[in-house]
Amino acid sequence: MIIVPLGVASATPTATRHLPSVALWREGDVHLFDCGENTQMRMLQAGLKRSKITNIFITHFDIDHYSGIIGLLSTLQLQRREEPLNIIGPKGIKKYVEWNFKFADIDLNYDLNFTEIKENIESQKVVDNDDYYVEARPLKHSRFCVGYRFQEKDKPGKVDAQKATSLGITEDEQFKTLKAGEDVELEDGTIVKSSDIVGHPRPGDSFAYVTDTKYCPNAVKLAMNTNILYHEATFSESLADKAEETGHSTSADAARVATESQTKLLVIGHFSARYTNPFILLREAREKFFPAWLATEMRPIYTNPSQEKGIVKQRVYIKEIDENSDSKRSGEKSYDKKSSDKSGSKRFRKRRPQNTKKQSSRSDSGERRTKRKEKPRYNNDDSDNRSSRPPKHITPRTPFDNFDRF
Ligand SMILES: [Zn+2]
Repeated sequence: MIIVPLGVASATPTATRHLPSVALWREGDVHLFDCGENTQMRMLQAGLKRSKITNIFITHFDIDHYSGIIGLLSTLQLQRREEPLNIIGPKGIKKYVEWNFKFADIDLNYDLNFTEIKENIESQKVVDNDDYYVEARPLKHSRFCVGYRFQEKDKPGKVDAQKATSLGITEDEQFKTLKAGEDVELEDGTIVKSSDIVGHPRPGDSFAYVTDTKYCPNAVKLAMNTNILYHEATFSESLADKAEETGHSTSADAARVATESQTKLLVIGHFSARYTNPFILLREAREKFFPAWLATEMRPIYTNPSQEKGIVKQRVYIKEIDENSDSKRSGEKSYDKKSSDKSGSKRFRKRRPQNTKKQSSRSDSGERRTKRKEKPRYNNDDSDNRSSRPPKHITPRTPFDNFDRF
């Protein structure tokens, strides 16, 4: 399971942050949580195929959380999608989407399956199949808002085939029976126990998406024992009054939910535009819970890095890392070092272009100009043909950059 934040702003986008959306990649499928205005572009930049979207989960009807859905569905139509798509959200989502396409006089060539969530539920399984389920629970916001938990079902334990053969198991049927947890009786009457052959079931991955809410018990229930909790932290502690008034969380609230739910990793996002540098929010969260990370747009978070690294490859730079300034500021360095191991940001360092120093950028401006000319070609290119081109740097560097990464 790979989590890719696509937009970590709240309410209004900033020069460097986009409206809320988080993608979950699992075995080739993409599941979107919220769909802010820039979601489809951010997916393209993050290297996530829009054609692979299986489910779109909308939390509530504040415009910044669903304003990208019509554009995205329209792109899928233009891509001649045929597979059905599931859209899950509070009651009204079906009416909104269908009205828009009726208004535009578009007859979609793929099916939309809607699951609507009513206000009076305690919890609802909105998706349930062989591999995973998704649960929704109401949160506490200024309007009806739900949080989601994506839970993989436990995988069966590994079969020790060698041991089974040595005990006399030969046929596929017998293996199947053992794998299903039942014992097998051999012809000579000896019983081979399933527990001797099959290992412990492996717990499935889990992810909770909790945004636009005050602290509430349902958030804790959604996040209980998850591998990753994505929780909003719109405000710092100094603006706790404002958080209460607008139905949002402070970074301390996010840490409280993380502590009570015993999640393995807290990722905070949905930052108010007033925090040019959300490090202050991270610091407050980390005082109460560790490990806590800042959600960084397009920076993947892995539940199993050894298996998952390199699957999702960004098409653009998020920010440059200036290694020289790292070594000058030793206090910040420790944050950067600790985190870069986990997040895979080293990959970016390798691909870093030459012009990170200010002096050198002047000298090789000619080269940069030629690179810029390629831009339109790059943007028009839709899928496969771009691997040879260097990723484009799109976000300006700030003096606080080292704080911005996990
Ligand atoms: Zn919001």
